[in-house]
Amino acid sequence: MVKLEKQFNNTDFNRLKKAWEFTKLAHHGQERLSGDPFVSHPLAVANFLADWKLDTTSIIAGLLHDTVEDGGAKIEDVEKEFGEEVARIVDGVTKISTLRLQGTKEEVFVENLRRMILVMARDLRVVLVKLADRLHNMQTLSPLPKGKRIEIAQNTLDIYAPLADRLGMGKVKGELEDLAFPFVYPNEYQKLKQESAVYYKKADEVTNKMKKKLLKELAGEGVKAEVHVRAKHLYSLWKKLQRPEVSGDIAKIYDIVAMRILVKNVADCYTALGIVHKIYRPAPHAGFSDFIAQPKPNGYRSIHTKVFVPEGKTVEVQIRTNLMHDEAENGVAAHWHYASFKEASGVKDELVEKGVFVPEEKLAWVKQLVSWQDEIADSEEFLKAVKFDALGHRQFVFSPKGDVFDLPAGATPIDFAYAVHTDLGDSTAGAKVDGKLVPFDYELKSGQVVEIIKGKQKKPSADWLEFVKTTVAKRHINKHLRKKN
Ligand code: MN
Repeated sequence: MVKLEKQFNNTDFNRLKKAWEFTKLAHHGQERLSGDPFVSHPLAVANFLADWKLDTTSIIAGLLHDTVEDGGAKIEDVEKEFGEEVARIVDGVTKISTLRLQGTKEEVFVENLRRMILVMARDLRVVLVKLADRLHNMQTLSPLPKGKRIEIAQNTLDIYAPLADRLGMGKVKGELEDLAFPFVYPNEYQKLKQESAVYYKKADEVTNKMKKKLLKELAGEGVKAEVHVRAKHLYSLWKKLQRPEVSGDIAKIYDIVAMRILVKNVADCYTALGIVHKIYRPAPHAGFSDFIAQPKPNGYRSIHTKVFVPEGKTVEVQIRTNLMHDEAENGVAAHWHYASFKEASGVKDELVEKGVFVPEEKLAWVKQLVSWQDEIADSEEFLKAVKFDALGHRQFVFSPKGDVFDLPAGATPIDFAYAVHTDLGDSTAGAKVDGKLVPFDYELKSGQVVEIIKGKQKKPSADWLEFVKTTVAKRHINKHLRKKN
């Protein structure tokens, strides 16, 4: 509790202390499989939530999250002592985790997912508590029986890590994946850990030299900056090695260690970029991205550039403000922090007044999931839609006007057209990518500009179903075909 004490005012701290006493009582005498007292778990969960700078209500819910399921408490007592909001979050977390269904593993899993999506739409904090719960469970997975360990780790890779990613919580995503990696792919993990060690070491030396030089130059130009050197997460390195253009060669991975330059404001970002390119030549074709001018759909903002260094390597440099950095690491969780900060400092903010802490457009995909939840009864189709469309690897493509669209890997111009508007999808007559005509089954890549040529009539074809990737496109094409018959 020492850690929590610093962050809160008296009222909040007293509420937290009361919750801590309640938790200790509810789990009295209980132990985890490791032999640790059970309360070490809810305490760790609450600490994560505090690290993510969530509100006191979430942290209290984190402390209490297992008191009903595993401890001796009743949900009515939680509500009486801590109010309706805390009780609702605890109840949501319990509902996600205590499903005991008859049926195959897959069916139970899908049912869990459906529930999670429903509670997520109602109060996102339930999912944030659940992510903190999963993070600590992954950190303490070893004492569990082998089969159980693998199942939990696999489920973490399938759902929780992509979910954290989709919520813009890059740090949690990386941690969850690296914790699951050795359990799900033990041999590959060992092999890569050994093979990559020398590359990490070399890259670390190179970037630390760069860091010194850059800090000096930045200070010389009057830019206050912090420079961090960050090693790529092992699991994400492993995933990248499987891409065809890399073909398993670690030497081809330029961001095994990336540099981050954190500055005060946007103007300083561009000054810093100028300084980087003055000292190190930008690598041609390696791709320069300005996600400040054009943020990713999940809200990510940063400038990425790849430069040559004297040692003959290419290094990725990311430039962003401190605020953008907090958002990139903590994602939606960061918004609670800003909202409560604004509230406390009396800043009038329309969203905060409405009690909406996360901008609506950032959660459009949650709404989409909720509607599928009602529409798609078949559990296999639903699972595919969630895993692939909502949580799968995403491509970011642009409309000719510069609007960004976020599509799953392998998406085609038809998928793009339906993502823009149903009408546009239905009346697609041709497609151009970066100014050139392409076939309808062309696979889009991140960064491309897609232009749809509209026909006079609506003619979705049954052939399109052979190659479209998104659930939205499939459903609309089918709908149109049914209408025609
Ligand atoms: Mn728990």
